[in-house]
Amino acid sequence: MAIVIIRQDQKIALWKNALLNADSSLKVYSYLEEHPKEEITMAVIWKHPAGSLKGYPNLKCIASAGAGVDYIFEDPTRPRHIPITRIVDPLLASDMSEHVLAVILAHIKNLNLYKQQQVANLWQPVEYTRIKDTTVGILGLGELGALTAKDLAKVGFKVQGWSRGRKTIDHVTTYAGKDELNVFLTSTQLLVCLLPLTPETEGFLNKSLLEQLPKGAYLINVARGGHLVDGDLLILLDNGHLSGACLDVYHKEPLPTAHPFWDHKKVHMTPHYASVSDTDSVVPQLIENYYRLENGEELKNKIDMDKGY
Ligand code: NDP
Repeated sequence: MAIVIIRQDQKIALWKNALLNADSSLKVYSYLEEHPKEEITMAVIWKHPAGSLKGYPNLKCIASAGAGVDYIFEDPTRPRHIPITRIVDPLLASDMSEHVLAVILAHIKNLNLYKQQQVANLWQPVEYTRIKDTTVGILGLGELGALTAKDLAKVGFKVQGWSRGRKTIDHVTTYAGKDELNVFLTSTQLLVCLLPLTPETEGFLNKSLLEQLPKGAYLINVARGGHLVDGDLLILLDNGHLSGACLDVYHKEPLPTAHPFWDHKKVHMTPHYASVSDTDSVVPQLIENYYRLENGEELKNKIDMDKGY
């Protein structure tokens, strides 16, 4: 039994060391080094090159090193019979919640606008909004969405959330399914997208959905670029229906420099870094699953292959 790490960034050594520091008896390889492919039972991956999951005859688990798994489903060459797991981690969820809180406060207290004014030597006070008067709506009430909703409610926001199945979260109004989407949207001032990217949710943030938000609403997309129809957002920003958007994720990353988001006054961008897996925090769950494989036990944090998340 052995683990292979497959990712295209500079973090292979970081993950390898974290795994070995947690359990020195493990056999861990980078996919870039010579390794015995028949020994590999688990692949710990993040945005792997297409085709790189082929050729492991004893692979039993594809472990995403993050919460999202859309990039795995996008690889037509992935071995389809192999179960996929994801990261569920309190730090990943609280980092996201903190990011969303920061973005919301910056918006309702006009901090981004004031930065633009400062650059232009402008002294121009603008009405601010109070937390207690602000309704935040969260699309997706999973590991990240549910914690974000709870935390925002604790701070004093009016919080509502929407998901596929009905959820009960203290101090959060919840809506479920397509029939309740319009009521949710028409009463949301700041919309936060925390849905997984699946065939069902691709292009979800489009003109007809965003038009259901009240005039002046603000969009925060921290899920995936594929949720958003970029051109539709630009139309609604330019015609004044939306007051702005903060985006962490894009169709293509890094976002090409010619993309209109870069120069748009109402778009605030962050470079897909709202919340990142902390290796020390998440490695124990990967190792637990590795030994579960050895013992023929059910894997933790398994993806539902039909739903795609
Ligand atoms: P989960 O799988 O835990 O939760 C997903 C939620 O979305 C669930 O509440 C689910 O509903 C709901 N949902 C999914 N499909 C639909 C649908 N068709 N209609 C209605 N509701 C739906 O995901 P996480 O909370 O862990 O993560 C969400 C996403 O955040 C990830 O997939 C990833 O893309 C993104 N992410 C972004 C990061 C960043 O740095 N920007 C970092 C980490 C994650 P139900 O519970 O009823 O099934």
